[in-house]
Amino acid sequence: MTRADLLVLGGGPAGAAMAALAARRGVRTLIVERDRFPRDKVCGEFVSPEGCAVLARLGVLESVLSKGAMPIDSCLLADGRGRSVEAPLPDLASAGRRALGISRSALDEALLRRAAVEGAEVRESTTAVRPLLEGDRVVGVVARPSDASGPEEEIRAGLVVAADGRRSMLQRALLPGIGDPTSTSPSSWFGFKAHFPDRTRGFSRRIELFVFDGGYAGLGPVEGDRLDLALIARVEALRASGSSPQRLFEERMLRNPLLAQRLGGGPPCSPWKTIGPLRFNVRHPAASGAIFVGDAAGTIDPFSGEGISNALSAAELAVPFVMEALASGGLTGAQASAWKAAWRRAFAPVTRRARVLGSLFRHPKPAFLAMSLLRLPHGARLLPPLVAATRTGAP
Ligand SMILES: Cc1cc2nc3c(=O)[nH]c(=O)nc-3n(C[C@H](O)[C@H](O)[C@H](O)COP(=O)(O)OP(=O)(O)OC[C@H]3O[C@@H](n4cnc5c(N)ncnc54)[C@H](O)[C@@H]3O)c2cc1C
Repeated sequence: MTRADLLVLGGGPAGAAMAALAARRGVRTLIVERDRFPRDKVCGEFVSPEGCAVLARLGVLESVLSKGAMPIDSCLLADGRGRSVEAPLPDLASAGRRALGISRSALDEALLRRAAVEGAEVRESTTAVRPLLEGDRVVGVVARPSDASGPEEEIRAGLVVAADGRRSMLQRALLPGIGDPTSTSPSSWFGFKAHFPDRTRGFSRRIELFVFDGGYAGLGPVEGDRLDLALIARVEALRASGSSPQRLFEERMLRNPLLAQRLGGGPPCSPWKTIGPLRFNVRHPAASGAIFVGDAAGTIDPFSGEGISNALSAAELAVPFVMEALASGGLTGAQASAWKAAWRRAFAPVTRRARVLGSLFRHPKPAFLAMSLLRLPHGARLLPPLVAATRTGAP
């Protein structure tokens, strides 16, 4: 059996940031991560300015820049007919305008290594299988090597923070009422990603959003002269393309003349990665004495490009609650209520706004009308406030 003061489940942006910040304050922190890093992930790989500000406070920004992160300061929105509108990213008082494009393999690796440098013990290739409960309180987890090569082990801690993503094991175990995140219905969304060669070498400094029949895609520069193309599509669109992301891409997305032109007709330089089904909603930031951060607490529509930043910011927001809970020998009911209220204030409104705006642009007709409005004389002025509405700002 292993003991820690703080046990963090998941080493993505939320978990790594949480572990780094706690370890920096002298907390004996253990982080268990299912995968071995670096690992790839389905993501638009766009880090909004709010997230860049957290990276700087964590001491990770320099390392991310040295890996070749690409500066991004404008955005382009294109509908299925290739009509487009471009504008600078909104300049928010809390974080400025500069965003970054960086692959998840590089970003997540830098964050997890930072947690180790701050003093956290990092256990990769380790899966948290089920919670350990005493009464109705989570006191740890049962974990095992992800390749099942060894026995299960109990890990006990004064506090458990679950940062294990949108299909959080702990959230499912404690709150079965949230439903099965793995069940697919005709209205389910799936996510895909591939890298393409960037012949402009990030010259455009733009994040671009392309609407197509059945979904939408984000395109942006990342390190290594590559463009990241991440899309979400309805399961029916995927099935109509024989469940092949490459066929979906060719049959639906390349019909968009602007996107076809941007990608220059060449094939991807990485295999397609697929995830799903996806759900974008607010869930529970605390249960049974455990705290949830990042996608485990609520998943924002990727339309916003704010998921990574929210994950990092949630870890920062959680620090005083974590320290207080550790000092009082576990998360009390009052502390849990205060944390839930703080999380909801910071992240619930933007998650709901992004879902409404995302659903507008996920459907060709409303997207067509919105684009007609944005292309009126002076209409492009509406784009920065529209983007700002999907941004969290400093919690
Ligand atoms: C198509 C798509 C495009 C996106 N594009 C963007 C974008 O451009 N910009 C942006 O900011 N956001 C984007 N997002 C959202 C973003 O990917 C997430 O919001 C972000 O990854 C959340 O970080 P997290 O740390 O909470 O969770 P994750 O990044 O999912 O990390 C969770 C970690 O927990 C580990 N884990 C899971 N279960 C266990 C377990 N049982 N035991 C141990 N470890 C476990 C996983 O291996 C993983 O490393 C996109 C999402 C999708 C679907």
